Amino acid sequence: MIEKVLIANRGEIALRIHRACKEMGIATVAVHSEADADAMAVRLADESVCIGPAPSSQSYLKKSQIIAAAEITGADAIHPGYGFLSENAQFAEMVEAHDLIFIGPKPEHIRVMGDKIAAKQAMIDAGVPCVPGSDGGLDSVSSAKKVAKRIGYPVLVKAAAGGGGRGMKVARNEKELDTAVKTAKTEAKAAFGDDAVYLEKYLERPRHIEIQIIADEHGNVCHLWERDCSIQRRHQKVFEEAPSPALNQAQRDDIGMIVARAVEKLGYRGAGTMEFLYEDGHFYFIEMNTRIQVEHPVTEMITGIDLVREQIRVADGAKLSFTQEDVLLVGHAIECRINAEHPETFVPSPGTITDFHAPGGPDVRLDSAVYAGYRIPPHYDSLIGKLVVHGRTRNECVMRLRRALDEMVVGGVETTLPLHRRLVQEKDVIDGNYDIHWLERYLEQS
Ligand code: ADP
Repeated sequence: MIEKVLIANRGEIALRIHRACKEMGIATVAVHSEADADAMAVRLADESVCIGPAPSSQSYLKKSQIIAAAEITGADAIHPGYGFLSENAQFAEMVEAHDLIFIGPKPEHIRVMGDKIAAKQAMIDAGVPCVPGSDGGLDSVSSAKKVAKRIGYPVLVKAAAGGGGRGMKVARNEKELDTAVKTAKTEAKAAFGDDAVYLEKYLERPRHIEIQIIADEHGNVCHLWERDCSIQRRHQKVFEEAPSPALNQAQRDDIGMIVARAVEKLGYRGAGTMEFLYEDGHFYFIEMNTRIQVEHPVTEMITGIDLVREQIRVADGAKLSFTQEDVLLVGHAIECRINAEHPETFVPSPGTITDFHAPGGPDVRLDSAVYAGYRIPPHYDSLIGKLVVHGRTRNECVMRLRRALDEMVVGGVETTLPLHRRLVQEKDVIDGNYDIHWLERYLEQS
């Protein structure tokens, strides 16, 4: 039985994990860098351990320090959150080798899905539709040209070890492909220490639709419908919703079952997300994330299921607490990612939050670890909170989101709140009529 969880993360997700643990009667240990001593999760956790200086390479990415903190405090399990070590197979192995429970998938599944070429092959084998492209990696520019000729331009060169949209280059003709392969390789080598790249057909107007799944060790797999995360900037999600305005119930049943069956075939355990591009009625697998995602609350709002709680339960060997028939889809939910960034230039704006007011009222959820007087350190991601609202209909949800955004106050630093206030007035957003390039087109025009 898990009785004490070490939270190997920071910010809002550290607090989110703490909250799930407390509701399960589980004690928590927060680890933190020197820059995060004042963090909310550190204040609220039962115990805390400083694991190093501010840079994440010296703290949140220090595997041995985190495991030592778990041993010293007598924790039974480690929850990695998202980012940092959450998709590091070697860390998961180390955790297990120290007789601790890793709250996540088995290391072999993290490893396969972390290599996008291997992941795509595994999905093709499991009957999941993929974007047409190279079968495996590219060994030369001339083989890239052959594949591009077969699938047709434009094409996208992608890094096998990719993440966060890095190492991705579009080529619209042979000449551009030359440069695209070279720059993608250089970028991938610098970012991930691995220059393997592959080629995909570049889809011009797709939506990004992803399917949430969770599986236990006893062969039970459930999907929890989809999230539409098409509103992106530089391949980073900004605004997410569930269900997708583009799908009908039959389509979501179909893709949900395809994904659940593939996950069952893999023998996967834990929470995961299969990401797809969706264009002209077709789904194309792009990658699988083997962790809890930033946008998981929209799924929780429409299903009433606590995904973090369920992650902890299945990591502990329990059966899923529900069956596929129990997974409801009630109403509509939207999440706005609020970053401490200038709303037009997107330049990060660390500093001290002078005023803070959280919106409230029916069906409004704010996942944030900041407070008045909190100093946002400059060393990490600029996400300071996620405003998530639910409504019985999409229209009710949009109206509620508008008023919740109007109530929210974050003073002392720049935030992306003004951008979200504008977005919820836009006709295309109100109509759910957008693709993955919509936001960039909108920002260019305004
Ligand atoms: P990362 O792991 O870096 O986030 P993904 O493969 O998940 O990379 O892709 C991130 C985003 O890049 C997608 O949400 C989509 O906006 C865009 N993208 C990826 N593959 C394609 C493609 N074949 N055509 C068009 N856009 C793509």
